Parts: sequence; C-alpha cells; structure tokens
Amino acid sequence: MFKSAYLINVYADLSKRYQDQPEFLQAVEEFLTSLDLLVDKDPRIQKNAIVERMVEPERMIKFRVSWVDDSGNVQVNRAMRVQFNSAIGPYKGGIRFHKSVNESIMKFLAFEQTFKNSLTCLPMGGAKGGSDFDPAGKSDNEIMRFCQSYILEMYRHIGPRMDVPAGDLGVGAKEIGYMYGMYKRIENEFSGTFTSKGIESGGSLGRAEATGYGLCYFVEEMLKTYKKDTFKGKRVIVSGAGKVGSMAAEKVIELGGKVVAMSDISGVIHDENGIDIKLIKKLSQTNTEIMNQYQTYHPEAIYSPNTKDIWKVPCDIALPCATQNEIYLESAEELVKNGCWLVAEGANMPTTIEATKYFREHNVLFAPGKASNAGGVAVSGLEMTQNATFQNWSFEEVDEKLHQIMKRIFNRCHEASLKHTGRPDDLITGANIAGFMKVYEAMLQQGV
Ligand code: NDP
Repeated sequence: MFKSAYLINVYADLSKRYQDQPEFLQAVEEFLTSLDLLVDKDPRIQKNAIVERMVEPERMIKFRVSWVDDSGNVQVNRAMRVQFNSAIGPYKGGIRFHKSVNESIMKFLAFEQTFKNSLTCLPMGGAKGGSDFDPAGKSDNEIMRFCQSYILEMYRHIGPRMDVPAGDLGVGAKEIGYMYGMYKRIENEFSGTFTSKGIESGGSLGRAEATGYGLCYFVEEMLKTYKKDTFKGKRVIVSGAGKVGSMAAEKVIELGGKVVAMSDISGVIHDENGIDIKLIKKLSQTNTEIMNQYQTYHPEAIYSPNTKDIWKVPCDIALPCATQNEIYLESAEELVKNGCWLVAEGANMPTTIEATKYFREHNVLFAPGKASNAGGVAVSGLEMTQNATFQNWSFEEVDEKLHQIMKRIFNRCHEASLKHTGRPDDLITGANIAGFMKVYEAMLQQGV
C-alpha cells in the first residue's frame, strides 16, 4: 500500500465510490503503489489532480445487444465500452466476449491498457470493451448476428482516429471479421478501425503471434540481463491455450525451452516429454476445452481437471496466459516451493496483489502484464500504420519490429526501476512509472 497522503485520499475516495468493483480497485492499488515514489517529489501531479483524473474513465458507453438465435428466439446481452484515456492517441483496446464481463473487469482492463499502450511508445490511448455474450457453443451464424447487432450501436463510437478495437478473450479474427464487415457497411469506408483483422481484410501478418511471441522476447531480455542466460533447457509452464498461451508455448519451444504443462478451462496437461504444441494448435481449430482430449494422443501425459494444478508442476519459468487472478497466494507458494524463479504475465493481471508480493519477497523475477504482454497491442499499432499508409509488411518485418519494441519496453522498465528504486529488477514499479510519465506529461500539456 502507498504512504503518500494524497494517494491515500484519492484511493479511499475511489474505493468508497466503486466498492463493488474489486478488479478495478486491485489494478488501481497496484499502480498507485508505484507512484508513491513520484508524487511527493513533483507537486504538479497533485496540483493538477492528475491521479484523480487518471483513475476515472473519460467516457463509458453501456448498451443492450439483442439478436435472434438459431431457434428463432430473441436473446438479450449487455455490452459496454470504456474509453479510459486519450491523452496520447486515439482509444485502443480489445473487445472481450465472456459471461464474466462486467463494469469492474472492463474498467480494470481499460485502465491497464492506458499504461501498456504508453509503454509501447506508439500513439494510442487506452480503452476496453466487451459483452457478457459467451461464444462457446454458439453457431457461426449466431456469432455473426450477435456481432452485427453489437456494431449497430458501437459504430458511432469508434473510428480510425477515435477508437480502434481489437480482439481479446472470446474474440478472434472471426468475430473481428463480422464486426468489421458490419462497420464497413454502415460507414461505407475501408479504414483501419479494427485491428486483429484477417489478412485479406487488411490485417497484419504477425498479429496473431504478437502477444505470445512478444512475451517470450521480453523474458529473453530478463534472462539475458539478470541471469546471463537464455530459454535453452528451461522448464516452462503456460496456463491458457488460446491466442496468447499457444503462441507463447510455440516460441518457448523455438527458443530451446521445454513446455512441460499447459491448461485451458477443461483442465491441465503435464507432459514430461514436452507439450506437443502442433497438436494443441490443431485441436484448437475445431474445439475449445482441448486439454481433456490431449491424452488420447499422448497417453503418457498426466491430465487433471483442476486448472489450479498447473501451478504444482515443477518449473523454472511460469507464463500465466489465461485470465485475471489465476495465481492466488497458495499457487504462488506452490510455484516457489517447486523451484520457479521467473514469472512473466501473458494475461492481464493474472497474479493477485498478495501473490505478486510473495514472488518479490522470494526473489522471483517478475514481469507485469502491462509490459510483458504489450506485444499484441504494439503489432495492432503497426497494423494501424500499414492501414493508414496502404502497405503490407512481411511477417519477418513485423516480427523484427515487435522484437525491437519488446526490447525497448524492457529497457524502459529496467531503467525506470533503477532510477526510482535503486533496484534493476523491480519491473512492476519500472513499468508503472514509465507508463505513467508519458500520459502524465501529455495531460499536463493539454490542460484540464
Ligand atoms: P483466448 O480466449 O484466445 O484464450 C484464453 C485461454 O485461456 C483459453 O485456452 C481458455 O480455455 C483459457 N482459460 C480461460 N479461463 C481459464 C481458467 N480459469 N483456467 C485455465 N484456463 C482458462 O484469449 P487470449 O489468449 O486472447 O487472452 C488471454 C489473456 O491474455 C487475457 O487476460 C487477455 O486479456 C490477455 N491479453 C490478450 C491479448 C491478445 O492479443 N489476445 C493481448 C494482451 C493481453 P477455453 O478455451 O477452454 O475456454
């Protein structure tokens, strides 16, 4: 927790107002803890009510989405878009379709996105949106009708210089395609309003790989800087086998690491021979819940239906890539007990505050998601540039730019950590302060 009276007051006020928004308060608390080192040294922050403004979204749009299912029944879902901060560029952030979507989760994601986008050094503000619509078990036609209805409201709030959505949990190239198609019919223009589009619709090569690959590039920098080491021979566990997890696992293997366990909502697979990532990717084309099918192909692997069992598998490196708050204190204790010495977040806020504190107390190198998973939005930024200039870059070109961006993000976090804490490896503080500074300076320049 923070010590500055200013931050204590801002947070107390916020917690009173939003006591029913635990994820949002968690993200703000984690962030403000790092600002303790700045606010008392720089009176302009308090004088301009910078923190008070940064913790309130600029705008929130809430709406109803009605659609007709395959049986002809009318269904109603709730949706929202949180446009959190546009100080450094048009709003940018994913769309999530999941039954857990609510205001707290949308606000925490949009808040985090603001500083993540700032870390990439690309001109993008922070936003997030979504709906409690669950695509699992829905037909393609149902998903299309839902996406079209969603855009019938959303189209008026987005645009290439206003707000540029992308995918997230439950939203991949298929859903983006349906949304972009509807948007284009309404606006009658082929613009870069969405990223993570299919390649033929103006998407960028390398976007599908970007978050997972970027995570591994970030970890490579950590290994090099703090351990003079590489992924070679390291035991790695990856939670989540979706867009982020599967690509992270693929890159770990390419860089010489051994992925010994993966998970999805159906459970955990522990395979001492090394996870067969080609099989995971193949199964994921037609199914969700793929872990419970893995053993059919690899009977020697061990399956558990309990997703938390992944944190019991001995490893050097853990990459949580599924969802928020998947590592609680007990799982952090298991990880440390079983030899884990590096954790890098592929998902957004997968580690609770208590678990993060435990890792730091036990000298586990820790990469916060707003830095280590920024590769996805970074390549979305590159997609926007390609769309705006009518160019298509090769996979290698995009991947090389991603690699350089992840190195730059690591260096910014590392330098800010050294400067403000005297420690080279406090990447949480480093990421928060480096992300904050650019947004803060822009807000000062733009007045109240
Ligand atoms: P996907 O929907 O593609 O994949 C999510 C994966 O996690 C699926 O395998 C899902 O299983 C699994 N999962 C969900 N909940 C649990 C759980 N409680 N325990 C174990 N596994 C679980 O989403 P993404 O890969 O896109 O996103 C994952 C995380 O990364 C999210 O936090 C997202 O915000 C973050 N992120 C994503 C970016 C991107 O570019 N996509 C960019 C930056 C961050 P199943 O399929 O069986 O439901």
